[in-house]
Amino acid sequence: MARTPLMAGNWKMNLDHLEAAHLVQSLAWTLKDQGHDYSAVEVAVIPPFTDIRTVQSLVDADSLPIKYGAQDVSIHDEGAYTGEISTGMLTKLGCTFVIVGHSERRQYHGETNELVGQKAKKVLDAGMTPIMCCGEALEIRKAGTHVQFVLGQIDAMLAGLSAAEVAKSVIAYEPIWAIGTGEVATPQDAQEVCGAIRKRVGELFDASTAQAVRIQYGGSVKSKNVREIMAQPDVDGALVGGASLKADEFAKIVTYQK
Ligand code: PEP
Repeated sequence: MARTPLMAGNWKMNLDHLEAAHLVQSLAWTLKDQGHDYSAVEVAVIPPFTDIRTVQSLVDADSLPIKYGAQDVSIHDEGAYTGEISTGMLTKLGCTFVIVGHSERRQYHGETNELVGQKAKKVLDAGMTPIMCCGEALEIRKAGTHVQFVLGQIDAMLAGLSAAEVAKSVIAYEPIWAIGTGEVATPQDAQEVCGAIRKRVGELFDASTAQAVRIQYGGSVKSKNVREIMAQPDVDGALVGGASLKADEFAKIVTYQK
């Protein structure tokens, strides 16, 4: 079964709710003008928590085929966890996706693979799809141990999930040295690790799970480099940061086949 590519825009801590409305509307219009087929390439925006209600209202009011989600989630359901947001709150807002374990959460909030795996499980239990991030720092890449390092992250993140849960999940390979730096991994670099991840999923679970799981590449993806990256057999989409903040540029990434 062919995997549907997923282009997801991670807005990070950018855009207030008014700017969010403007961007989603512009993106929807631009993609409509271009006759984008959302069943061929799925599109998602991942705004800050404070924008999600606005995005939901727009998507619902205009029946937009754009999906949306959150950048993080709590492992707790409710209670004295100041600043945290539960999966229940996100499902109420109609979220489809939740990013877990982005390298910025790992770096600034000390998130471990085990915590990321727990978050992924909470997201799946709530009926949403986790986008599980992994990727190596520059020193690891220079030492040539990046594949081994990323597979270690995969083993730990997927340890508590079933084959069926992994099959419906998304894994995003994002080499840290390529995030927000303008330094893109070559298409061959992206394929090397995405291919190794798929092989590992096959070893940990089975061949059909490996065929089903979607694996994105992320790290300075732009309209000018997306096509070659998407041509790699094990790359099923992109997690896009900076370039997802401009409707025209993100639309060009989404419509990379044209
Ligand atoms: C990201 O943060 O997930 C990302 C890939 O950012 P950028 O595209 O800006 O490198």
